[in-house]
Amino acid sequence: MFNKIAHFPNIFKNKPILILDMDETLIHTYYNDNNDTTYNFYIRPGLFNFLNVLKKHYNICIFTAATKSYADSILDYIENNERGKYFIKRFYRDHLSYNTVINNGIEEKCFYKNIYTVINNIQNHLGINKTIIVDDLQQNITFNKNNAINIAPFYDNSNDKALFLLLPVLINFACNKNMDAKTLLDNNMTYLVGTGFFNKIEDNISDIYTFEDILI
Ligand SMILES: [Mg+2]
Repeated sequence: MFNKIAHFPNIFKNKPILILDMDETLIHTYYNDNNDTTYNFYIRPGLFNFLNVLKKHYNICIFTAATKSYADSILDYIENNERGKYFIKRFYRDHLSYNTVINNGIEEKCFYKNIYTVINNIQNHLGINKTIIVDDLQQNITFNKNNAINIAPFYDNSNDKALFLLLPVLINFACNKNMDAKTLLDNNMTYLVGTGFFNKIEDNISDIYTFEDILI
């Protein structure tokens, strides 16, 4: 069992908001076999370095479509270490919005993450123009297209580089007060449908971001 989090860090009104998806963005859960009711999870390479650096620059929130109990068991583990807390708020399945989409002529409910749910909840003064959501699921990109970075899904690849690629982009965005999210995305991101991640910044990987994290 993990300890319940005693408190959240302060919300900083002069910082941008970074909304992170959990499953296949930060971690990947797996079961040892079909009859197993307990799960394990892989942590995406670079995650702790990513969070340690970005918590200085952002109000970091988690927005997951998972249930609270499942998500908290993983997020408490991630935050239960000597590095301190990372997430100022967590949003779960109950916080999803839905829209109606037509799929092969049939109306379907489509659940998605509305970033205004987060913005309105934490009342961040920098607001929508300085809010970024990182997610591997297309509908969360589509419904937040001026603010969404589509990261490739992570399963178990120990050589995954996505968080290392993303880190300098997000640092620059936070430090450049005049750049809004739409400008960042227009200027820097080339979406690769299928792989999900963008390729334009790939040459900017810096050695200063250490590859310290390993799969557990
Ligand atoms: Mg996901």
